[in-house]
Amino acid sequence: MTAFTTRFAPSPTGLLHRGHAFSALTAHDAARAANGAFLLRIEDIDATRCRPAFEAAIFKDLAWLGLTWEQPVRRQSEHLAEYQAAIETLAARGLLYRCFRTRRQIAEAIASAPHGAMETWRGAPLPADEEARRLAAGEAFAWRLSLEAALAQAGPLTFVEEGSGPNGERGAITARPELGGDVVLARRDVGVAYHLAVTLDDALQGVTHVIRGQDLFEATHVQRLLQALLGLPTPVYRHHRLLTGPDGKRYAKRDHAQTLADLRAAEVTPQQLRAEMGF
Ligand code: GLU
Repeated sequence: MTAFTTRFAPSPTGLLHRGHAFSALTAHDAARAANGAFLLRIEDIDATRCRPAFEAAIFKDLAWLGLTWEQPVRRQSEHLAEYQAAIETLAARGLLYRCFRTRRQIAEAIASAPHGAMETWRGAPLPADEEARRLAAGEAFAWRLSLEAALAQAGPLTFVEEGSGPNGERGAITARPELGGDVVLARRDVGVAYHLAVTLDDALQGVTHVIRGQDLFEATHVQRLLQALLGLPTPVYRHHRLLTGPDGKRYAKRDHAQTLADLRAAEVTPQQLRAEMGF
């Protein structure tokens, strides 16, 4: 295995913008500098929002930027059985519980808690008879991680940050998975959710360095806990700053003018883009 393996892991739910380009270039250049491997992973578990046209655009945009990546490209939608197996392992160890609440009911419960008492969801399994009744009625459910059970099994955890968190966090960081609450690991509609898929994939693909935006720093705390529960290695993390536009706000998918496709159409060159971003 290569000593340095990193990845860019976009979701094909829209066109890539400058922020994605910054992230992809940061990871790609780090891999090249380390004589390592740069992987591309398509995070397409959300079948309702992902589109083949956006996936095709990802390949086109990254090639236009001048990037090359290892083959084959991992597509999460082709590995649902692997995620399912991990869910079953965790459930059998009493680390998960079934949650029948809708996203909206959870949001309402959090909002109606005494001010500040609850920012993320902490729940509990239903009484066995009620759960059996709902399952028999065919009600859909999500699998949530029981933070309490997980922390009891995992103990204190750390990870190494070589970039920086949003508040300058760097070096050996004590993981605080409670930031995420009882996260959903398997959505009611697709049977898997972001944290589980990412954690498993990074391990299965031998990723040694996770290079991504600071918006995912909190996610690292949750993913560190999942690594411990699943007996997976912990990569080194390099969270990078988020690019902001002229208005000081970070780039997001809604800023259509900033897509790489538009920049290309406006005859901006990848060299110009690299220079503007400080590469
Ligand atoms: N698919 C995630 C996104 O597009 C990135 C996942 C990750 O880097 O861990 O935001």
